[in-house]
Amino acid sequence: MKTIKLQNNSLKLVKDVLKDLKASPDLGIYKCVQCGMCTSVCPGASQTEYDPRDMIRRVLEDDETVIDDENIWNCFSCYTCNSICPSGNNASEINQILRQMSIDKGEGIQKIVSFSAYGDSFMELGVGSIPNTFFDVMVKDVGPEYMNLKLNIEDIRADLGLGSYILPEEAINEVESILDNSGFKNRLERIKRCKK
Ligand code: SF4
Ligand code: SF4
Repeated sequence: MKTIKLQNNSLKLVKDVLKDLKASPDLGIYKCVQCGMCTSVCPGASQTEYDPRDMIRRVLEDDETVIDDENIWNCFSCYTCNSICPSGNNASEINQILRQMSIDKGEGIQKIVSFSAYGDSFMELGVGSIPNTFFDVMVKDVGPEYMNLKLNIEDIRADLGLGSYILPEEAINEVESILDNSGFKNRLERIKRCKK
């Protein structure tokens, strides 16, 4: 295991992480003892070269190459690391901030282009839902009953005594207006323009 080598004035990256909007006020990154418990429970680490403990070491050592490291995209945001950390640190949160830094640099944006379909679906329906483009993957993962569910969702809801999941047009327009005014729509268009 590598130890952290702190240098004078070498904490720019950790300071940038801590001042990010997504950083919790009590994020315990300075208290990381490099015990590796986060990595031991991390599903991303068990399947790939991703290593949350090492990611944190690199942040503390001001190693900005961690932002461009492909492995940071192998975190599932499951927060198991957060629940087990003895120092109150949150590797998942740090990961999300590093990914945002990568997106802001223009490199990580390719990683999220395919997910823009979720944004389109949100704009179209006014609620979050799995976009049609992911149905094939869902059938592969869940089985044919997934498509059955999607095709008969209104009948299933009616049998359960639930109303339609489709919002009234007025509500959809209101959500669209909020997404437009908050900058969501512009951001979504910017991401879609990056599609290769
Ligand atoms: S579990 Fe917490 S203290 Fe241990 S290496 Fe991970 S972030 Fe650091
Ligand atoms: S949130 Fe990410 S870093 Fe934490 S345990 Fe889950 S996959 Fe690993």
